Amino acid sequence: QKQVTVPTDTSIEEINQLGRTFNDMSSKVEANEERMKEFVANVSHELRSPLTSIKGFVEALIDNKGKTPEAQRRFLTIINNETDRLTHLVNDLLILSRSEEEIVLEAEDIELKDFIENVLAGFQSRAEENSINTEVISKDNFISLKIDLNSLHQIIANLVDNALKYSPQGGNVSISLVESEEMISISVRDSGLGIPERDLPHIWDRFYRVDKDRSRETGGTGLGLAIVKQLTEKNGGQVEAESVLGKGSIFSVRFPKQ
Ligand code: ADP
Repeated sequence: QKQVTVPTDTSIEEINQLGRTFNDMSSKVEANEERMKEFVANVSHELRSPLTSIKGFVEALIDNKGKTPEAQRRFLTIINNETDRLTHLVNDLLILSRSEEEIVLEAEDIELKDFIENVLAGFQSRAEENSINTEVISKDNFISLKIDLNSLHQIIANLVDNALKYSPQGGNVSISLVESEEMISISVRDSGLGIPERDLPHIWDRFYRVDKDRSRETGGTGLGLAIVKQLTEKNGGQVEAESVLGKGSIFSVRFPKQ
């Protein structure tokens, strides 16, 4: 008797398990579809708003509503800025979709301090314009990390871009490098606006912005941190953010040593 019931019980349990697996799978597929729809809706919205604004000002110029050269210049400046925003957005979308594919990562040994100082040099004039002091801090002079060069460049550039964007005049941006036995971590710290605690878990989501108006003014796309997270994880690393509202933020990426 027993020998019969045991397999029967087992197979019922197996069928139940199978049922649970199917349910689980279909809800994951639904969740994915839902996310995809949301993403497409977000992209459409983000593309539409600069386009609407460009069309509005072009029409105003065609209808001769810009009476003085100053007014015309103002309209054209807005059109120019909105075009920049569109370009930025399309670029970010391309980076994001490329990093979603199975991109070929070419891991190379990189001397970190040198590399990061070079990335930072690209932001120097912007930092100076806003009297923001930048520095790279590393206890060890030579930290080498094996990682895809393009990914690392993009990760650091996005974090530094944000640190500058969300810092007031006269702020401080420092990048520290720490090597432990198993990990290498890179932290970008700013003395800027900071992020409210309730927003902190969401900032890595695509198109999430703490303050839409603030971010729009600064030319953000809401994709920078999603790109950082995706590229970091593709390279086997992890991201982390700490922040105190009104004091500043620290964004860290950590990679295992190989
Ligand atoms: P964005 O292009 O809007 O900057 P990100 O994905 O890079 O998009 O960042 C998402 C949001 O997180 C930003 O809109 C901003 O509100 C917040 N954020 C990111 N970095 C910082 C920072 N260093 N200081 C304060 N807020 C930040």
